[in-house]
Amino acid sequence: MALVRKIIGQSTVDGLGNRTAIFLQGCNIRCAYCHNPETQAMHDAEATEMSVTQVLDEVRKGIPFIRGITVSGGECMLQAEWLAELFAAVQNLSDECGHSLSCLIDSNGTIPFARYPQLMAHCNGVMLDVKAWDTAVYNRLTQASSNQTVKENLVWLLEHDLLTEVRIVCLPDRVDVETILRNIADIFASIGKKSPVRLLRFRPHGVVGELAEHPMPTEKEMSDYAAFAQSLNLEVTVK
Ligand code: SF4
Repeated sequence: MALVRKIIGQSTVDGLGNRTAIFLQGCNIRCAYCHNPETQAMHDAEATEMSVTQVLDEVRKGIPFIRGITVSGGECMLQAEWLAELFAAVQNLSDECGHSLSCLIDSNGTIPFARYPQLMAHCNGVMLDVKAWDTAVYNRLTQASSNQTVKENLVWLLEHDLLTEVRIVCLPDRVDVETILRNIADIFASIGKKSPVRLLRFRPHGVVGELAEHPMPTEKEMSDYAAFAQSLNLEVTVK
């Protein structure tokens, strides 16, 4: 069983194409800019314990309109064993319905993917949040002590052709966006593979705490980040 916060039957903003998006309850890093703070607690009265079969019933409703599922959170890798069962079941569902359904993970990258070969064998890709590069910046932004595992996951996913997208929330003065971009460009070059990079504009909607009133980055700041990413030969989109 997994603790599920919500399921969106058809979403176009959670990976490639139209997808069923499943949001699991519980997160381990408590980002200052989290716009889904209700998903952070490991237990919450609004979340529902669901079996793989129950979630599969929800996924079935979307066929044939969906290209697959995306599991997000909170941090869905905190329930990795359940996720492995779900992905295997969705793959069986693909056989049953005659068109392939892909399984994507949206993750903060704090749990090593290499630790879950069974899950990754059924996973078609990961959208990886890189929240900061410098550890001190990461520590100020989250309640995690280190981002070393995020960096190791970036390399591992790239090497295994499972890095669907790198996501960076842009918040000038708080996030070292240029440093992240420079380092991922270096990693892409050294491995000889790359993935798209999505620059997400910080939005205060839903945010609680000190950043609740913080202004969004300007159009100019976002286009400067995009231009910098392009100068590093990164394939970048801004949202
Ligand atoms: S990783 Fe995502 S869900 Fe968790 S605290 Fe950060 S923004 Fe919120």
